[in-house]
Amino acid sequence: MNLDLATLRVAFGAIAVTLFVLFYTVSFRQTRSAYSAWWCAAVAFFFTGSWGYLLDGTVHQVWANPMANTLIVVGAVCVWAGARTLRTREPAWLQLSAAPLITLLASAVDSPATNTWSGGPVFLGMMSLTIGLAAWELWRLPSSYSRVQMPLAVAAAFVSVLYLARGLAFVAGGQDGYVFTTYFGSEITTLVTMLLLVVVAFSAAALSAEQIATDLRTRADRDSLTGLLNRSGFLDLALVQADRLARTESRGTLILADLDFFKSVNDTHGHAAGDAVLKAFAAACIETVRSTDLVGRYGGEEFIFLLPGASVARSEDITRDVSMALRGHSVPGGFEMPTVSYGIATLGPGAYDIDAVIAAADQALYAAKASGRDKSMRAIRPAGEGPASSAEPPSGHLRIQ
Ligand code: GH3
Ligand code: MG
Ligand code: MG
Repeated sequence: MNLDLATLRVAFGAIAVTLFVLFYTVSFRQTRSAYSAWWCAAVAFFFTGSWGYLLDGTVHQVWANPMANTLIVVGAVCVWAGARTLRTREPAWLQLSAAPLITLLASAVDSPATNTWSGGPVFLGMMSLTIGLAAWELWRLPSSYSRVQMPLAVAAAFVSVLYLARGLAFVAGGQDGYVFTTYFGSEITTLVTMLLLVVVAFSAAALSAEQIATDLRTRADRDSLTGLLNRSGFLDLALVQADRLARTESRGTLILADLDFFKSVNDTHGHAAGDAVLKAFAAACIETVRSTDLVGRYGGEEFIFLLPGASVARSEDITRDVSMALRGHSVPGGFEMPTVSYGIATLGPGAYDIDAVIAAADQALYAAKASGRDKSMRAIRPAGEGPASSAEPPSGHLRIQ
């Protein structure tokens, strides 16, 4: 079978344009992410670059051929930059421009008017290097990142090895050598690159879809004012956590917190000041609890914590620390921060039902409010479950029967 290079390149161009349009509309317009911008740019550079080769054999070859090599290397650099933005920041401009500049120079000084492979080994080497860097970046992403990172990394590594083999065959046997023309000629490479472009575009679209889903899930689970979990986000995770505690028969505590006389902050200083206090309280919580603890905004000026493994005494320390941290925050207007009341209930053998534990913490909170605010109260037995403790509650603490 004889593959006609010009036809293949036209087909490649057509596929590249179609993918560019699809990729731009499906991926970039929806995610506005850096990687999809870079990969859109990559497809555009591959397309314009391969168009340049169509001028081989004409008087325009002298400038079109080096330009084509350079643009295709720029495309490969964009693939690398896009892959890198998934993990960290994009490379500096100096790093980005080195490979294209070297390719341009090598192609321009290698008789481009007569040599359709001007700068060939350098071009092939730079393609292998930059696509290889992209594969390396994708490989280094944490395995939890996405389902498609591995197919992408493998596809990129395959292209990198292909270009390396072409470069070696070129250097060993020249552009007319048997190995280069039979196995690594432009026809076969264009065909393989075409297929890989489809794989990459498909995976990138899947990556965007995953990112949109994750983004929506994050937004659905988070409170937009404080950034803490919202009520349903908290409850979902709390159920999982309570289940884990139950399986290992471990203990934990659940705390409900309510800002004291918060309405008067709004009434006196305005709603924006109230919002600032809520944000300050969320920050005080984050500063105080461990990363394995759950904190959520339960509603209005009420917050909820689940502290796996924490004792009641430890939880009382935490409530004191949160209140102290809140006092340390300042808000525009410089007024004094409100105090906070807390209700603490335990999770433990016989008491892992989250609704019951919340109800117990709520009663303890109510008692804290009733007995003067700015304090924490503990509920000994969540919602009447489990054996009653024979220990008397310490003074100042409420025993829920
Ligand atoms: P208590 O000590 O008994 O808890 O008194 P309180 O004033 O804190 O409680 P109350 O339930 O009377 O008032 C809660 C207020 O919280 C009323 C509501 O306007 C305000 N609030 C709820 N959500 C927000 C919010 O997102 N931003 C602001 N600024 N205020 C909020
Ligand atoms: Mg309240
Ligand atoms: Mg309140």
